[in-house]
Amino acid sequence: MVCICLVCRELFFRDCNSRENGFSCIFTICRNFPTTLPPKPYSYMGFAEMNIRGIVKFSLIDYPGKIACVIFVGCCNFRCPYCHNPHLVVDPESQPELLQSSVIDFLEERRGKLDAVVVSGGEPTLRPKLMEFLRIVKGLGLSVKIDTNGTNTEVIQHLNNEGLVDSLGIDYKAPKSKYAIVAGRDNRRMIENVFSTLEYAVVEKIHLDVRTTVHKALLDEDDLKTMRNELDDMGIEEWTLQQFNPVDIIDENLKKVETFTNTELVQIVERLGGRTKTRGIIELMVLPPQ
Ligand code: SF4
Repeated sequence: MVCICLVCRELFFRDCNSRENGFSCIFTICRNFPTTLPPKPYSYMGFAEMNIRGIVKFSLIDYPGKIACVIFVGCCNFRCPYCHNPHLVVDPESQPELLQSSVIDFLEERRGKLDAVVVSGGEPTLRPKLMEFLRIVKGLGLSVKIDTNGTNTEVIQHLNNEGLVDSLGIDYKAPKSKYAIVAGRDNRRMIENVFSTLEYAVVEKIHLDVRTTVHKALLDEDDLKTMRNELDDMGIEEWTLQQFNPVDIIDENLKKVETFTNTELVQIVERLGGRTKTRGIIELMVLPPQ
């Protein structure tokens, strides 16, 4: 029987008795995710809702120029070793779920005080209710930014066609040749889609925030140069390199390995040229001469 993976949307064949268990075949997960996702029923994916697992009620930094509320949804189809939301990605049910209706109530209460909603994650484009949720958000007069890994080009296209997205924050994780390693998933279709999403956003002139988290063990300076070239080829000028943040991450081993210092990262950005910049660099204190 043909099934659809609820995590990565891959079609695959499976010897399946899920109808006998009372669940439709679409509530299933493909072989890409056999070890990280425990076998849980339908509710695991928060299918009936947006699966909202976190909220920042007020932010001035997540949507530059706008006062935004940020919501975080559970689940992701990548497994980036440096991901600092591992609980949302690997075990979203460990976080209390916020009902979509209560988030909408909150947004209604803040009418006139908020400019925008940022939907982050996890991976928002995996939420089947995303479009419905954003229609309500737009109905409240709010701008929408989606933070996405770019793997669901089709979803982004649908959102854009309905005028439901004003800005995209897209993680561009590695040069194409190394994408599977850095994203933790060797899925050619998903990786091709990241580039398709970037190209689509350029053609459609959607406001873009393209960013890359940098760790020396995953990306060296040559990789970054290749990425600069790939972006140039797509017509993307602005690119932000984010310093690795050694908090709670998916692969704890990454914290034990040397990465670029802030100074090295700033120097790399200067050498890359173009409109490359950095984020997450602690301001260097300049001490007065002795
Ligand atoms: S960094 Fe983003 S794309 Fe990667 S696992 Fe975390 S949420 Fe998913």
